[in-house]
Amino acid sequence: MIDLRSDTVTRPTAPMRRAMAEAPVGDDVFGEDPTINRLEEHVAALLGKEAAIYCPSGTMTNQIGIFVGTGRGDEVILHEGAHIFNYEAGAPALLSGVGMRTVPGEGGVVAPETLRAAVRPENVHFARPKLLCLENTHNVAGGRVFQLCDFAAVAAEARDLGLKVHLDGARLFNAAVATGTPAREWCEHADTVSVCSSKGLGAPVGSLLAGDEETIREARRARKAFGGGMRQAGIIAAASLYAFEHNVERLAEDHERAKGLADGLREAGYGVDEPETNIVLVEVGEAEAFLQDLAVEGVLATPWSGSRIRLCTHLDIGDAEVEGTIAAASRLLVSGEGVR
Ligand SMILES: *Cc1c(COP(=O)(O)O)cnc(C)c1O
Repeated sequence: MIDLRSDTVTRPTAPMRRAMAEAPVGDDVFGEDPTINRLEEHVAALLGKEAAIYCPSGTMTNQIGIFVGTGRGDEVILHEGAHIFNYEAGAPALLSGVGMRTVPGEGGVVAPETLRAAVRPENVHFARPKLLCLENTHNVAGGRVFQLCDFAAVAAEARDLGLKVHLDGARLFNAAVATGTPAREWCEHADTVSVCSSKGLGAPVGSLLAGDEETIREARRARKAFGGGMRQAGIIAAASLYAFEHNVERLAEDHERAKGLADGLREAGYGVDEPETNIVLVEVGEAEAFLQDLAVEGVLATPWSGSRIRLCTHLDIGDAEVEGTIAAASRLLVSGEGVR
């Protein structure tokens, strides 16, 4: 099977497994796991922040970011397609007691004037807007890059309005590699930043939240309260460290293959958005029926909005898999299953 459902489906490679097996470990709740300490320092430096904390998932790092950036009854403002709003099980309400106010924006980008219009003044009737959450790259928009100038502009507006900024950077390194803009340049404009090692970077588990020392101290309390305190977790953190040290630059290969996939599918007759990173959105008509037929041809993908599917390139997808996918989709068009 060629599995393009997500960049989370990668299996750890032999050298990554070796790094895991050989990792020095200790009790991380006591701050004594040398591998986790190294990973947290490495990622804090990559993101240009004072400190970082290792957590099991990007959902947890996002939710801790919200917890430390808000108080009960406050309002979080975010794009209507945000992962935090759509795919995190209502956790901001569940864990932090905050409401979410969504705003529209082309390609996942929140414009300064849209933000300003959504932020209501101090008034006894209104929830207090406290935090703006931004996502880069934007998943629902198809891996679109939130360009640094747009990002800086809306973050400045947020600051002007008295809001803090959290960046959901599950795929921030895809944005960095695609543009040549170092990840830390986006992070300068955010108070807290979440990054994942289990997406395109190829680790089996692990995300980090970065920010200033005091914020990350609070995050450590929150992680314990949310049930995310781990013991000799250096054995899994070693995979994340390996991923950050070896698999960032190679994301460019995923982007190249996504473009190749898009070109091939377009030549075959499909309507395809031009990918900016590793996500390809394709018009197929009846998505669910199409995906069943595609699976019979040996290719897995994810249903997106009604008539579209999402294909995601990653570490386990090489040129042969790209060609195999184009061939499978072409066969479906010939047999009359695909459309447009
Ligand atoms: C995957 C992802 C996350 C985190 O997901 P987990 O599965 O909890 O690690 C957060 N934001 C975005 C945009 C994502 O794609």
